[in-house]
Amino acid sequence: MAGRPAGARGVLRNFVGGRFVEPAGTFPKTSPVTGATIFEVAEADGSTVDAAVGAARAALRGPWGRTGERDRAELLRRIAAELERRFDDLVTAEVADTGKSISQARTLDIPRGAANFRAFAEIVATAPTESFGTVGPAGGRALNYAVRKPVGVVAVIVPWNLPLLLLTWKVAPALACGNAVVVKPSEETPASATLLAEVMAAAGVPDGVFNLVHGFGPDSAGEFLTRHPGVDAITFTGESATGSAIMRAAADGVKAVSFELGGKNAGLVFADADLDAAVDGCVRSSFTNGGQVCLCTERLYVQRPVFDEFVARLAGRADGLAYGWPADPGTVNMPLISRQHRDKVLGYHDLARVEGAQVLAGGGTPHFGDARDGGAYVRPTVLTGLPPDARTNREEIFGPVVHVAPFDDEQEAFALANDSDYGLAATVWTRDVGRAHRAGARLDAGIVWVNTWFLRDLRTPFGGVKASGIGREGGVHSLDFYSELTNVCVDLS
Ligand code: NAD
Repeated sequence: MAGRPAGARGVLRNFVGGRFVEPAGTFPKTSPVTGATIFEVAEADGSTVDAAVGAARAALRGPWGRTGERDRAELLRRIAAELERRFDDLVTAEVADTGKSISQARTLDIPRGAANFRAFAEIVATAPTESFGTVGPAGGRALNYAVRKPVGVVAVIVPWNLPLLLLTWKVAPALACGNAVVVKPSEETPASATLLAEVMAAAGVPDGVFNLVHGFGPDSAGEFLTRHPGVDAITFTGESATGSAIMRAAADGVKAVSFELGGKNAGLVFADADLDAAVDGCVRSSFTNGGQVCLCTERLYVQRPVFDEFVARLAGRADGLAYGWPADPGTVNMPLISRQHRDKVLGYHDLARVEGAQVLAGGGTPHFGDARDGGAYVRPTVLTGLPPDARTNREEIFGPVVHVAPFDDEQEAFALANDSDYGLAATVWTRDVGRAHRAGARLDAGIVWVNTWFLRDLRTPFGGVKASGIGREGGVHSLDFYSELTNVCVDLS
């Protein structure tokens, strides 16, 4: 079957200590496009998670625990090369799991997987080190410098929306810093992670350095991992509520956490903006990947003089986004990840109507007259007319839904954008350079994009404020989470 990794032999299996292991039990994975079962997936039980953590710990005690940065950087480049060699298999796996278009998987998801390894090979090999010449109270001299060491066994827990991209974004810096990882992909997207295990083996990653456990969150592989006493740190991407649960689990062992969580991101369109670019940008920022990107815009605020024109154009574009099978060139709309998630998003359509919204585009499901009617599609939806305190405007929907409201001046726009429990990303469309910089300083968000969206440089800090996360990853910020610093003070007198 397409997307089934060659080494998986019928069932997508767990990978422990350098080999695929036989499952105790399995669960089905369904296609978001048709609803049909496409894979059986091995669910890691407590003993499998135990074995994975044990294998990681053993790897750290072996030669891997003594490798230098240059050797690790070289290994990361070999992983990137192997990912590129398996490019078509990875595209097939990612499309099977998510229903996204082949064009997007080929241009975004899989290339970024390889790019993450290449970027962190460079970052770890060139990271600056600190040293201080110190004069003591009696005039004696000393040299202070910090040494980076691995944290140990890192649990990597990731969601389903950009599966390989988000997984490698964490695995690459973790390995660059000399850790061993146990990764748990989402139960909705097991296939590319299973292929990544094959890639690791083929690239020569030592046994036990990369381990993979499939399963769910509570009372399953996710929770077994976060509660495991052999795990030293947890890096997690997912919902804010899950972050809270993981933080409680991590408290017992005082484990370090890095959290990339939910968002309810605002976009601000000023009347002085290039309106064509703003419409294009907002279509992308609200509907890319079916609106299932943590950085997607769900709240748009548009300055009153251009409000009517902007809203009419946005709604027209939302209605015109192309449907197709994932393999069709030109397909833009994709299904949501599951029927369960589709029901959640449709529930917000209903809630918005009850709260008094006008539905300017979408607001339901498409009809195909073929197997896609068994899938999880919803129509890209544009709403207006709700106050800032409506639940539709406050809760993360994580689908192709955007609410648009007017504002009068910059102060009001910034206040509306900041009126949220979340603070991941904000996007500003303006030609006023001063306003662009004021937005960066005043908006409560980990990332502020001006006249662009989703343009990422892997060396820059990435993360959120408020309920959108704890800590920053990216560039040397990742090295800070994935390594411990020991300060060495040598007396020179
Ligand atoms: P989720 O929180 O339901 O699940 C994420 C992962 O955590 C999955 O692997 C899941 O099995 C696991 N999990 C769930 N409960 C757990 C528990 N109690 N203990 C341990 N593991 C557990 O999120 P999702 O629905 O898969 O993904 C969508 C969410 O992810 C959205 O909120 C989105 O904003 C967020 N997200 C954030 C970023 C970011 O960078 N900030 C990026 C992508 C997605």
